[in-house]
Amino acid sequence: MAKRPFVAGNWKMHGTRAELGQVTHVSIETETIPEVLVALCVPATLITRAVSASPGFLIGAQDVHHEAKGAFTGSVSVKMVKDAGAKLTIVGHSERREMLGETDAQVRAKAELAIDEGLKTILCVGESDKVRETGQALNVVAQQLEASLPDRVTAPIHLSIAYEPIWAIGTGKVPSTGDIGAMHGRIRQVLEQRYGDGAASIRILYGGSVKGSNAKEIFAIDGVDGALVGGASLEADDFMPIVHAAAAGVKA
Ligand code: PEP
Repeated sequence: MAKRPFVAGNWKMHGTRAELGQVTHVSIETETIPEVLVALCVPATLITRAVSASPGFLIGAQDVHHEAKGAFTGSVSVKMVKDAGAKLTIVGHSERREMLGETDAQVRAKAELAIDEGLKTILCVGESDKVRETGQALNVVAQQLEASLPDRVTAPIHLSIAYEPIWAIGTGKVPSTGDIGAMHGRIRQVLEQRYGDGAASIRILYGGSVKGSNAKEIFAIDGVDGALVGGASLEADDFMPIVHAAAAGVKA
């Protein structure tokens, strides 16, 4: 991996105070692995506690609202998660796009607000199994990305893209290394067209059933700069082997 790899966990709707020990475990162990940037995106209710439990470690939110503030009962804004201590947010996760009908325009607005506030931002894209079967995955994901990317990125270094095929999330299925490499190459092209030289610092992560057992192979793929990890991020003992695989990839 040419860039310092980035491995981020997404706890989704899992975790209460009882699980904070997992955050502490990951944060302490990662202090000895400076070659990898590591983060955990915890439920909004845990952000402040997770930050207190792991000073200096990168804690993120899993989503933010696409408006800066207003009458949006139950939602949290960029400023709120930042105030809680988050330094990162995910936007455009397929579970929100698919289940809550979030649009590309909303994802773009979220990313713009988050980056303007100085949050690192992981913007997710990915195709369904039906799209993959029709052979249109590269085109569909490129279009989704073009429509979701902020027009202006004040700090490209803050932006990462996560390629997460929907059919690979939580299923144990993973695309072939060739398919992952081809998609990351296409995403890189879109970023270069949009941001020119500014695209160079943007990481492209792979997400979808990454585990300790397959991480080494995934990190060896050209164009993969890290991973977004769901299920295997809940327990430090499952997550840390992925971080170690990323570190080994740097040394290889
Ligand atoms: C995710 O939800 O972002 C994800 C990649 O999940 P999993 O690792 O469980 O497939």
